[in-house]
Amino acid sequence: MSKVLLITGASRGIGAETARLAAAHGYALCLNYLHSEEAANELLDSLLAGGHRAILFQASVGVESEVEAMYRAIDDEFGRLDGLVNNAGILEQQSDLVDMDPERWRRVLEINVIGSFLCAREAIKRMSTKTGGQGGAIVNLSSRAADLGGPHEYVDYAASKGAIDAMTIGLAKELGDQGIRVNAVKPGLIYTDIHAASGEAGRVDRLKSGVPMQRGGLPVEVAEAILWLLSDASAYTTGSFIDVSGGR
Ligand code: NAP
Repeated sequence: MSKVLLITGASRGIGAETARLAAAHGYALCLNYLHSEEAANELLDSLLAGGHRAILFQASVGVESEVEAMYRAIDDEFGRLDGLVNNAGILEQQSDLVDMDPERWRRVLEINVIGSFLCAREAIKRMSTKTGGQGGAIVNLSSRAADLGGPHEYVDYAASKGAIDAMTIGLAKELGDQGIRVNAVKPGLIYTDIHAASGEAGRVDRLKSGVPMQRGGLPVEVAEAILWLLSDASAYTTGSFIDVSGGR
């Protein structure tokens, strides 16, 4: 039986690229999406056409009942779970914090932080060796923004990723004797549509001269780090972070 992996926010960007690479590595997949139904269906069709096993599930990671329904669908379809990539994430219009409102903060924290908590909780219930699971791996999508702070753009987003860092460290310790490893990747400037949501689709190109490697990153370059952290090649690695940022 193939290992089963849930990737949240798999319809676009880093999540979609991780899905393609994970399928090539032999994982059976649950691909989560929220709004991008057409892109999600195209991804599913291409994976199925390649002989891979995958299902789609529409759910907002920030809504408990929807996350629980998604995991029940995984139970029904696969009967096991081996890994979770907590990838779904949002940011909002570039702004100083002084001009932001609490509704925005709640949106960002609900998707980026509570969404990751909810998905991790349901994965732990299924993977923990303490409750009859076979162990597994969780990879969280943090960001270099957690260390850089996101000034004048999105301090709220950066803080949400700081919460993901603390969660990664804490859960790694909590689950160390339950067969579950928890790690995170910290992408830098990666070419995806997320920057358009900040109001600057060309943000990577504007900032790339400040990257030691003098270029933005590709989603597949993040996916490669995620796949390593999921794999047995990283069997003694937990509570760790991989920067995928060209040195920035
Ligand atoms: P993206 O291209 O904007 O894609 C975001 C994905 O998240 C989409 O598949 C979207 O699904 C999904 N999503 C958003 N809200 C959701 C929700 N409530 N429930 C379920 N899915 C939801 O973003 P990306 O650049 O690939 O980013 C992926 C992760 O990497 C994020 O956590 C981001 O913070 C992190 N990251 C990205 C960069 C970068 O430069 N790109 C840098 C550092 C960290 P739908 O379209 O179907 O709604």
